[in-house]
Amino acid sequence: MKLIFERSREGRGTAYLPACDVPERLPAGELRKAPLRLAQVPETEVDRHYSELAQQTHGVNKGFYPLGSCTMKYNPAVNEYAASLPGFTDIHPLQDADSVKGAEELCSRLERYLAEITGMDAVTLQPAAGAHGEFTGLLLIKAYHRACGNTARKKIIVPDSAHGTNPASASMAGFDVVSIASDAHGCVDLDALRAAVGEDTAGLMLTNPNTVGLFDPNILEITRIVHEAGGLCYYDGANLNAVMGIARPGDMGFDVVHVNLHKTFSTPHGGGGPGSGPVGCRQFLARFLPHTGGAESIGDVRSFGGNFLVAVKAFAYILSIGAEGVPLAASNAVLNANYMRVKLADVYPMAYDTVCMHEFVMSLEKLHHETGVSALDVAKAMLDHGIHPPTMYFPLIVHEALMVEPTETETKETLDDAIAILRGIRDAAQADPASMHEMPLHTPVRRLDEVGAARNPVIKYAF
Ligand SMILES: *Cc1c(COP(=O)(O)O)cnc(C)c1O
Repeated sequence: MKLIFERSREGRGTAYLPACDVPERLPAGELRKAPLRLAQVPETEVDRHYSELAQQTHGVNKGFYPLGSCTMKYNPAVNEYAASLPGFTDIHPLQDADSVKGAEELCSRLERYLAEITGMDAVTLQPAAGAHGEFTGLLLIKAYHRACGNTARKKIIVPDSAHGTNPASASMAGFDVVSIASDAHGCVDLDALRAAVGEDTAGLMLTNPNTVGLFDPNILEITRIVHEAGGLCYYDGANLNAVMGIARPGDMGFDVVHVNLHKTFSTPHGGGGPGSGPVGCRQFLARFLPHTGGAESIGDVRSFGGNFLVAVKAFAYILSIGAEGVPLAASNAVLNANYMRVKLADVYPMAYDTVCMHEFVMSLEKLHHETGVSALDVAKAMLDHGIHPPTMYFPLIVHEALMVEPTETETKETLDDAIAILRGIRDAAQADPASMHEMPLHTPVRRLDEVGAARNPVIKYAF
């Protein structure tokens, strides 16, 4: 399809509105020297351009999207409605506090709900994404050790199954990262953890359920080991979808947690934002939180109060499903994942063949070995059936991994269709492996040069 700039013709822009007759009051030096280079296209063309883009992309609104670890669940329209109300959209953070009482109340109530759901005492809505929340939470841990005069605590322990953002955030926050191996069940190896902790331990970063979709049965022992060594425990709550309303990071022994409002709490995030990664902590860390204005605060991590409209959607979501709906959503997420897991396990070996939480990981190592058909080939074949592929090649500890997260908002029929499609792909892979390297055949674009796209991204129009 053509870029909008390729549809552009000099002088063809639509001007339904008369030219502005309000005198320009900006100081001369502040005005642009040349007009903005916008595409000059009539409104029909603009409309068609964006409609075509919408038709060529895949979203939850179009089809099943079982992208593990990303929680691509359906986001109810009522949340969008709430976030579009002028009382929320037409306000400004520099406005008189008296005139935005409603927005303030919404934020403080959302903070309370999130504190309740995570088992924490205080919450900040300022961080703009999950990784940003991790960074913020780690700064709290750093500030705490510094305030205690413990400058030797420089190491953050991260299991090898961790989301890539964990070691990255720890390193950005100035810590040394110590990676520890997982045990045969994909959980934290307690002996490895005992060997890793010491006087230099600042803390542990963990996600539970972990990235292979399992709830660590030793979670209380894990947080105890870290606390006894003088470290703090950070909970990566990006994927709270399996446990919200059922189990709380605070009760598991964690001191700091971030949640991804744009995963669990229903904000669309396929295109990359805006997101929100609120951070919760225990009372003894609250004085370090950003945006408090206190002397010990780590300072702002973003302008003003965070991505406010994402907070509005999360607030609307929590209120609309209510205190009963939160654990019900989690239970259904777990049920859907286990339903698919059981119906697929005989043809796609599970990396860990046990009851899972909100997602499960299949290993296509054997299929790859026997037929040459890889996890990538299977993922590409799914595209021809209108299904977004699962997460591929993650977590790194599983070879030829496909990580499936169906979410709670899908019907049994959708799951059954996906199961039938995956089983069919597996039959095709055995019958005609060579053809599998050609997939997809029916998508707007076929196989892309993914390495080239990562190494030499073209993100700017060359006028
Ligand atoms: C998505 C995710 C993150 C990162 O969240 P972003 O909002 O993309 O920065 C961190 N940890 C886990 C386990 C995740 O699934």
